[in-house]
Amino acid sequence: MTEPVRPGIVATTLAAGVERLRRAGSESARLDAELLLGHILRRDRTALIAHPEAPVPEAAAATYEAALVRREAGEPVAYIRGFKEFHGLAFSVDPRALIPRPETELLVDLATAEAMEILTSTPRPAGTPPLRVADVGTGSGAVAVSLAVALRRRRVGDEVDILATDRSAEALQLARENAVGHGVADRIRFVVADLLPADGEPLEIVAANLPYVPSAAIPALPIAASFEPRVALDGGLDGLDLVRRLLELLPRVLAGGPGTVVARGGVALLEIGSDQADAVATAVAERLPEWPCRVIPDLSGRPRVVRIERPAAEGSHG
Ligand code: GLN
Repeated sequence: MTEPVRPGIVATTLAAGVERLRRAGSESARLDAELLLGHILRRDRTALIAHPEAPVPEAAAATYEAALVRREAGEPVAYIRGFKEFHGLAFSVDPRALIPRPETELLVDLATAEAMEILTSTPRPAGTPPLRVADVGTGSGAVAVSLAVALRRRRVGDEVDILATDRSAEALQLARENAVGHGVADRIRFVVADLLPADGEPLEIVAANLPYVPSAAIPALPIAASFEPRVALDGGLDGLDLVRRLLELLPRVLAGGPGTVVARGGVALLEIGSDQADAVATAVAERLPEWPCRVIPDLSGRPRVVRIERPAAEGSHG
């Protein structure tokens, strides 16, 4: 039988936690145990490890016990702590939205680079309307908020309007809370929409981390994923239902459509599963044959983001 965690010192409390989470099947038992105890003692992991003799008072031991029980049942550490670090920022997370994944930081970096490139490569006389960027399926708001913060740091925050959409009003509420928490709520417009609203100004950049897991692969995900909203993961038969629907919207929503004069066409950046590059390239070639498309790998070298650009002089597709 499992003994509940007792008050004591960090070293023994931690060891007990690691052992319990290992037995419960966590693949990251030590990290989980350290993150949870550090959160409860309000110390970072290095401080915990550096001071193994530090006391764990009774209240902290009881809180740790409750956290271990939740983690033993498979709940993600991020939901237990109530936040997740992403792109150097702390995001509130709860079951209203998917927990931001580290690989999605690439999407933020690429969108930031696209925005900077547009803002710095063409003259923008006073009165030029702000650059329009959309984060489609924003969930916790991680992409939209990180992008807004990155642009503010580069002192171009005022030159960009960000639209963040989600079909879940609950997720959007969480995203709004995160935008407020990072002081960028005035830069982001939150709209409940199935992908994108039916009307609106043309977008220079569309970034999207849509659900892309094939339905049949959902049960095989780590148990932690079963605590997350299924609609945030399930992309249908081959995972690409929503990606294909968004591709079909691009001719209507991206800047540079028929009858408009633009220096360059709009760009879409879509996160994909590492085994979906060929399928997405085919879907793009079928729907947007003239549009250049390339796949950008993540830090581990795996295909992760597809970049699709509307040709500048493009006339009549869509
Ligand atoms: N990469 C995520 C996962 O493996 C999937 C995210 C998504 O569907 N957008 O859980």
